[in-house]
Amino acid sequence: MSTSAADRSHEEQFLTVLRREIPQSERSIWLDGVEFHISEDTVQITAPSKPQIQVIETRWSEIVRKAAIEIHPDCQGRVQYHFLESRSSKSRVADTETYPESGQPAQPEKLRPGLTFDHFITGPSNQLAHAAAIACAENPGNAYNPFFIHGSVGLGKTHLLQAIAHRLAERGLKKVVVISCASFTNEFISALSTQKIDRFREHYRSADALLIDDIQFLCDKERTQEEFFHTFNDIYNREQQIVLTSDAPPMAIEGLSERLVSRFRLGLVVQLEAPDLETRMAIVQRKMVSRNLELPQEVVEQIAVPIIDNVRELEGAVLRIESMIRHEGVSASPDHVSSALDELFGTETRRMDLTTIEKTVCEYYSVTPEQLSSSRRTRSIVLPRQVCMFLGRIWTDCSLGEIGQHFGGRDHTTVMHSIDKIRTNVSENTTLRRDIESLEAALRQI
Ligand code: ADP
Ligand code: MG
Repeated sequence: MSTSAADRSHEEQFLTVLRREIPQSERSIWLDGVEFHISEDTVQITAPSKPQIQVIETRWSEIVRKAAIEIHPDCQGRVQYHFLESRSSKSRVADTETYPESGQPAQPEKLRPGLTFDHFITGPSNQLAHAAAIACAENPGNAYNPFFIHGSVGLGKTHLLQAIAHRLAERGLKKVVVISCASFTNEFISALSTQKIDRFREHYRSADALLIDDIQFLCDKERTQEEFFHTFNDIYNREQQIVLTSDAPPMAIEGLSERLVSRFRLGLVVQLEAPDLETRMAIVQRKMVSRNLELPQEVVEQIAVPIIDNVRELEGAVLRIESMIRHEGVSASPDHVSSALDELFGTETRRMDLTTIEKTVCEYYSVTPEQLSSSRRTRSIVLPRQVCMFLGRIWTDCSLGEIGQHFGGRDHTTVMHSIDKIRTNVSENTTLRRDIESLEAALRQI
């Protein structure tokens, strides 16, 4: 199924609405791996497991319907649910007629335009994976084969996989096959049931490079695993590049056959980690620039400081702020930004009070609240005090004056100065950055 830029933008908007309506804790369980395709007359929802479909259908059908109408008024709220494995009922049947003849060039429409190396921001959390991805793309079949990227959701696995595919296609590799594991499984099942298994095999096994996203979905699917094992061997033995992504390292994918686990470990296995604060700020900045949004550094921080472990959520936040400014005509003041983010991610993660922040920071730096409120100006007290003010500005709705009041009756210019100080130091000072990251992780736990 090829997807146009307009479809993708509809899908992004649709996801933004769902994020607004469905709490994060629920989303991470039930919407993981779910794909949405919005066309003129329907919304197609494809889930990798049956319980996911049941939950979406029974609990959120109204939200889904309304979101569909909001985003695409022509679709009249018609929603179709698909479960990938079901052979009989509602499952999408892959269009095996569309398998291109072998030897045809890579199909650029299957590649998502923005997911290139140029758009990937690097930092300590992803440098290794990024460098290895470039090596695979420059020297396919030789550098690392297979190349296996793992990491939790929203950290850029699909982005790197697509970036490799783009680069391979640019380098003139003829048949670059990119597919999600869910679609591979789905196509295999439908090829079996429509007696087109030979074409299926010919298509995948003759690839010059095979890139499969979310390979963890092979778990417990014995027949697909068996098929994939042979596909893998054919491509590997021809020394063509294989790239796989997964939410866990090969050894930790339960229900995956031993022989596949050992195949997956033949090349390089790298992990994508959660980006540090500096990388998050760079990502937010880049996303803003690419959407022609010129916003103050403060807004970048408001987004990047608390969203610690998911780049997709950073993007969601930028889209939300964009829609607030462009469609709702609201200015990007700290208060508006903070309530838009609250709406998006649920208030529970962000509503903090100064006392809790103070307590967390005091424990971290081994100082007391009394010392913070005192007039002492030694560095061991000034730093935690400034950090408290910085976090207080981002994690609470308190004004500068209220924050100053809380920490020993200081006036708002002192608070502003403290916040600026931390803000400017955070990018150069690694220790401070680590402090802030540890503290924000601790606050998230509360
Ligand atoms: P995953 O496949 O690991 O769940 P994705 O590759 O889909 O995550 O990334 C989620 C979103 O975040 C995508 O839109 C992607 O472009 C973006 N993203 C992830 N990492 C980065 C990065 N390092 N630089 C820029 N954008 C990124
Ligand atoms: Mg992905």
